Amino acid sequence: METPTQFFSTPIYYVNAKPHLGHAYTTIAADVATRFKQMDGYDTYFLTGTDEHGDKIVQAADKEQQSPREYVDQISRLFQDLWPKLNIGNNQFIRTTHPDHIRVVEMLLTRIHDRGDIYFSSYEGLYCFGCERFYQERELVDGKCPDHGVAPSAIKESNYFFKMSQYQDWLIDHIKTHPGFIHPKQYETEILSFLKEPLEDLCISRPKSRLTWGITLPFDDNFVTYVWFDALTNYISALGYPDGPLFTKFWPSARHFVAKDIIKPHGIYWPIMLKAAGIDIYNGLNVHGFWNVSGSKMSKSIGNVTDPVAVTDRYGVDAFRYFLMREMVFGLDANFTEDVLVSRINSDLANDLGNLFSRVLSMNLKYFKGRVPDPSGTDFPDLSLETDAQTTIQHFKDVMAAYEFHKGVEVIWGFISRMNKYIDTHEPWRLAKEPDERLRLEAVIGNLLEGLRTVACLIYPVMPETSAKMLRGLCMVLPETGFFPLEEIGKWGQMSARACLEKPDSLFPRVDVLKKTAH
Ligand SMILES: [Zn+2]
Repeated sequence: METPTQFFSTPIYYVNAKPHLGHAYTTIAADVATRFKQMDGYDTYFLTGTDEHGDKIVQAADKEQQSPREYVDQISRLFQDLWPKLNIGNNQFIRTTHPDHIRVVEMLLTRIHDRGDIYFSSYEGLYCFGCERFYQERELVDGKCPDHGVAPSAIKESNYFFKMSQYQDWLIDHIKTHPGFIHPKQYETEILSFLKEPLEDLCISRPKSRLTWGITLPFDDNFVTYVWFDALTNYISALGYPDGPLFTKFWPSARHFVAKDIIKPHGIYWPIMLKAAGIDIYNGLNVHGFWNVSGSKMSKSIGNVTDPVAVTDRYGVDAFRYFLMREMVFGLDANFTEDVLVSRINSDLANDLGNLFSRVLSMNLKYFKGRVPDPSGTDFPDLSLETDAQTTIQHFKDVMAAYEFHKGVEVIWGFISRMNKYIDTHEPWRLAKEPDERLRLEAVIGNLLEGLRTVACLIYPVMPETSAKMLRGLCMVLPETGFFPLEEIGKWGQMSARACLEKPDSLFPRVDVLKKTAH
């Protein structure tokens, strides 16, 4: 059977500011999805990068007294340095200032221009010279620029436009005939409701008199292309469009992860651009919500929880990844507070998972000197956790394939909770005192160890470091890939006759919470 493929991308992040929580979430979600697909037998490709042209970059560079080139190199570096800290396993990091990308943008524009879908026209609008941009009437506050408090001037400018309107019916039909093209469903509804109104043609250029930091239009030297033809094209330029082997292999399975503020360009402009250029439409769009951030009641709070580096330095990368996946229902908004992060670390990670792991390994050391007993326990089918584990794996697979990461985590923690109850029910410390119960004790501990192995394997996409640490503690030899394939996890008895002699390190130390004292 041919190996299925999966291409995931994040948006390319605009480098007018440092990486924050939102960037971290999208990228971690795409990383978790990629690792899950690998466990499920897919050949994957994962792309992220930075968007480096445009007037906001020029302004930000001016403020720092740098050239745009120096500025984008510096901020792009911050993103490139952050991802390894968050254990992001991207295959490529694309920058829109790279010559290979620029070539593909030129190719795409030429193609669409040759087909007659790009035209030159004048445009009249309200322009703020401070912001160097046009404003829509509704964006103004009391008729004035919200940033400068000055009424914008009516100016006339000629630009190039992309004829989107003629593809409107085609796009509506494409969305309706491809369920899951825009996921989750509420965003499909949102896009279809946008499409009930006639689509305006898209302005795709800026005169060089206003902006030079961009890609020159291949058919007019006096203009650069603006935003979307430059940014969205990264998804195909990175794969070596038109005939690179990566493009051939991965483009048909492309799914883009985006936050809900950019669904219009991704759900409307991009498919129409592809259609107009005669390129196959991407496979799907995964849209997530926003993080609402609020303050902490703890005295030793790190303060700026929107800085992924600060959160990771204090609490560890796996705790951060766990929290993001557990707390946000993919597609909806969620709250980020340091207090809730800490309580999740203490309850879910230190207590439920960490204690279970150290308790079971300690009992195995104490009762069996670390030798792993046979979980089949010959005569005790009632003690088996095997069926439960297999159901858990299947359930995990179903929800993760649907990008329901929070449910994936809940499914694993449901199993952890049943294992904790299993210990309370079967009281291994009591069995250990009865010589007649030796076989029963072997079955209980053997099943718990196999259950821990199952958990260690399943948490891999969300917490790769903890997964490896647990598997090492369980004396499993990690495959070179770093994970066990999903279809192999459910097989019971993989640990039999191994010896786990080491006393395990604590997986997640508890975080001491000191409440701020009122003054
Ligand atoms: Zn302004």
